[in-house]
Amino acid sequence: MRIIFLGPPGAGKGTQSQNICRDYGIRQISTGEILRKHTTEGTELGKEAANFMKRGELVPDNLMIDIIISELKKPEFAKGFLLDGFPRTPVQAEALDGIMAKYGIKLTCVLVLEVPHEEIVKRISLRRTDRKTGKTYHLLFNPPPPGEALELYQREDDHEDTVKHRLVVYESRTKPLIKYYSSMGLAHRINGVGTLEEVYGKITKILDEQIHK
Ligand code: ADP
Ligand code: ADP
Repeated sequence: MRIIFLGPPGAGKGTQSQNICRDYGIRQISTGEILRKHTTEGTELGKEAANFMKRGELVPDNLMIDIIISELKKPEFAKGFLLDGFPRTPVQAEALDGIMAKYGIKLTCVLVLEVPHEEIVKRISLRRTDRKTGKTYHLLFNPPPPGEALELYQREDDHEDTVKHRLVVYESRTKPLIKYYSSMGLAHRINGVGTLEEVYGKITKILDEQIHK
């Protein structure tokens, strides 16, 4: 399966990606996590990306497309992948089409997780991320398991003003992709409000239909 996960920041894409990858035997590619790793390691790419990320702006398309080209070359993605956080602009989507055509592969579907802005602000304000694994928790809705040695921190771009800006950026630059993939018959909209289990139930229904198509 080759899946794109679209949806505003904080909708629950990362959380649900873990379930999907566990149950459907595919690997996640999270461009946000790749960028955060570069920033922590202090690479040139990390330094350049950090200027955009901390302001809640998108990292330039050419840098993102280079990252995806080198990721998709890796043998572990031959069986399938779930793209979480890419593409985020029409230019990135068209580049992805080109890369996939070159490999002779097609997308299975595009999951669009929809969550209203007020709910997103609640989710992101209490989101905490584990520095080692990149896994996210929520202090109320998805608390970290007691006793595990986690290094939880709050992302610099998860503070309220930056989140609001990221939502504006999502609306103007990423949302047009829903139309793009709908016109190809690939987009499936999912109401992302509900418990983690309820939302995952809606996702598996769609993915199981794809398998049996
Ligand atoms: P979110 O919580 O919004 O899903 P991500 O971890 O996916 O956050 O992304 C964090 C930041 O990394 C974004 O705000 C953006 O600056 C940068 N980023 C990640 N993926 C992309 C992309 N495909 N194009 C441009 N910028 C990106
Ligand atoms: P994204 O990857 O789309 O940016 P995350 O998966 O990190 O989003 O989720 C954002 C925050 O919301 C996290 O703190 C996560 O634990 C929490 N969360 C995810 N799904 C739900 C849900 N269905 N209900 C309540 N909180 C959720």
